[in-house]
Amino acid sequence: RTTILWHRRDLRLSDLPALTAAREQGAVIPVFIRERKVDALGAAPAWRLGWSLEAHGAELEAVGSRLVLRSGDALEVLRTLVAETGAEAVYWSREYDPVSIERDSEVKAALREAGVEARSFPGKLLWEPWEVKTGQGGPYKVFSPMWKTMKGEAPGTECPRPRELAGPADWPESESLGDWTLGAAMRRGGEVLARYAVVGETAAQERLRDFVAGRMHNYPKGRDLLAERWTSGLSENLTYGEISPRQCWNAAEGDGSETFRKELAWREFGWQLGYHFPHMFEREWREEWSRFPWKDDERKAEVKAWKQGRTGVDVVDAAMRELYVTGTMHNRARMIVASYLTKHMMTDWRVGRDWFADTLIDWDEASNALGWQWTAGCGPDAAPYFRVFNPASQAEKFDAKGGYRERWLGSGEDASRFYDAVPVSWRMEQGRDRPAKPVVGLEEGRKAALDAYAARDF
Ligand code: FAD
Repeated sequence: RTTILWHRRDLRLSDLPALTAAREQGAVIPVFIRERKVDALGAAPAWRLGWSLEAHGAELEAVGSRLVLRSGDALEVLRTLVAETGAEAVYWSREYDPVSIERDSEVKAALREAGVEARSFPGKLLWEPWEVKTGQGGPYKVFSPMWKTMKGEAPGTECPRPRELAGPADWPESESLGDWTLGAAMRRGGEVLARYAVVGETAAQERLRDFVAGRMHNYPKGRDLLAERWTSGLSENLTYGEISPRQCWNAAEGDGSETFRKELAWREFGWQLGYHFPHMFEREWREEWSRFPWKDDERKAEVKAWKQGRTGVDVVDAAMRELYVTGTMHNRARMIVASYLTKHMMTDWRVGRDWFADTLIDWDEASNALGWQWTAGCGPDAAPYFRVFNPASQAEKFDAKGGYRERWLGSGEDASRFYDAVPVSWRMEQGRDRPAKPVVGLEEGRKAALDAYAARDF
């Protein structure tokens, strides 16, 4: 019996329940489909996906298998593959955003109607969104009580990594990854980004081991320090499923493990909320905030300066350059730049959400929407709107010696790479492209935001 394993954001061989179940049935045909959800990806996530697919293809070849690539409507492609290969089943790991849920429900129903066994499996999260419940039986809307429940739970035994993976006698044809040009929309230099990305299952496992052995002990204290590297860096691997959250959770034993697991629980929280309250991806989680007077049109020049790392606020510009060069940004810096955009500039949080969706290699639909709504003050369990981060005091506290600002705004290698990465149309000149005064002054912006909040009619 042959099973098609439809890969999406689960590009790994170990701890993958859908793969374990497929192997038990016989031959497995791993497939990745370039369908609507893939075509909708931002430039950096699409670029990073290309590398992940290449790495996963190599991992599969090492166990005697292959990755078959096809493009088109998911159901059409799967039907064609079933007809070509005689496969009797199609398995996949669940995704929890509304577009994927709708697509998967249709695929499941249509395949079943055609007599094909269609089954979905866990693997993306520690617990399924419907498994974690409050005392009243509903989903959590606040993080702390959810964490209290979660921290005492064990997320279960990992599925083993196969040493060999049996395939069909005749492999169906595959499109070529090169022809897909997943990096085509990258305006910035992909070769710059490639220096910073750590791609694929083997590399992700190594990264986890390094973190647990060398950095986790100081994670609770060090994770907020902008210039030092105490966090795991695993978000880009988790988002493409190159590693499972369960592997991260289980490997974290010893000093620092509880704080690390708590951060993994924030990722869960985002997906729980996204599953139960899908409007979180698009609209203010708290409805009354949809009437907030975001100043989008009046702020075009300032928003451009924010994206290009030339607001004149050192820590904001350093962070925006880190993002452009590396495709990631320190968590503390994400909160600082998001607060400056949504509060000092009073810009709609969706503007920031979309820029991150285009530029982050660890873009995760739920963590991103939650992070933006939380910082903007309109989200679940959000920081209150009147809590406006002061970038200057944040920098003093979390970049006391200025190493982070120097790294991205000084004259060293990382700062220079920004100029290799930016498109010519940005017309930037090292050392001369930032205003002497912030585009929105720190006091002035804070006051305007607080006044608008005080005058709100909601
Ligand atoms: P570590 O500190 O090592 O944490 C381990 C893992 O826990 C991370 O890899 C991540 O999967 C998870 N995690 C940690 N912090 C958070 C958090 N606050 N929310 C959800 N999960 C968390 N994270 C993304 O993965 N993708 C995004 O698109 C994203 N967008 C964000 C946007 C904003 C405005 C904000 C404030 C945060 C966003 N985050 C996002 C969360 C967080 O900044 C990153 O997960 C973190 O910086 C990744 O670095 P790390 O892997 O070294 O994390």
